[in-house]
Amino acid sequence: MASDKGAGAWPMKRRVTLIGAVLNLGLAVVKILTGWLAQSQALLVDGVHSLSDLASDMLVLFAARYGSIAADQNHPYGHARIETLATLAVGVILLAVAAGFLFDAVSRLLQARALTVPGQAALWVALASVLAKEAMYHATRRVARRTGSSLMLANAWHHRSDALSSLVVIVGVGGALLGQAWFDSLAAVIVALMLAWVAWKLLAGASLELVDTGLSRKELDVLGGTIGGVTGVRGFRRLRTRRMGGQVLVDLQIFVDAQASVAEADRVAARVRAALIEQLPGRADVTIGIKPDRYNRRS
Ligand SMILES: [Zn+2]
Repeated sequence: MASDKGAGAWPMKRRVTLIGAVLNLGLAVVKILTGWLAQSQALLVDGVHSLSDLASDMLVLFAARYGSIAADQNHPYGHARIETLATLAVGVILLAVAAGFLFDAVSRLLQARALTVPGQAALWVALASVLAKEAMYHATRRVARRTGSSLMLANAWHHRSDALSSLVVIVGVGGALLGQAWFDSLAAVIVALMLAWVAWKLLAGASLELVDTGLSRKELDVLGGTIGGVTGVRGFRRLRTRRMGGQVLVDLQIFVDAQASVAEADRVAARVRAALIEQLPGRADVTIGIKPDRYNRRS
């Protein structure tokens, strides 16, 4: 961890992530069992969603544990991409699962005879899930505010979207209990689509990272402003960025006074490195080449 804030905040983040993981495990087991026994397709899909949430919790914890293992001879840039590869795998599995459920729910809707009315238990489980997930949203958002972590804030919003997913199940099961059996299958379609969306985001994020996509134009402009503002920097070129796990890797060349000593130039580079690490979220790895500024400005 580059910043004290990040390192000091980890126990708090780990606690709320662990609580979320245990809750997701409980919800997955109860929803899948109840969905199966009480014959609610929507609750069953929602249960698989909870199972996938458990998988991403494990990834966050796994990444914190193994992704932060120091670099070694075989992996001189560290091990952060292990997390990216795992994310890609989870995304592929989830997308396949979502597609399977979608196919099943749609084919049930098309042949009305296969529709079954779910038992009331499904309704109570879904209600409990909404309440638990909304509570997790608030708890995680509190940690996000105290640690300033955007990952935690994203996790908080994920909890709220999980609550929304279970809310759809309530409407589906409720509608089916009121005599509209197709409501449950329709809810299953919506919940499966939400699951597919989660899978797509995981896949897209991991794939972009694996092909070394840089930061956005806007983010680069902000970084450029920071670099230009460092005392002793006469200009810069070849600013290149890419992501690795939660890290941002940056390399660039800076121009310094051609008459400066090697020690002075090195101090300028150290200031640039510190300014960039301060600016970038999470951990950052900055490599700087130094060039003499021969052409412009007085020296
Ligand atoms: Zn989720």
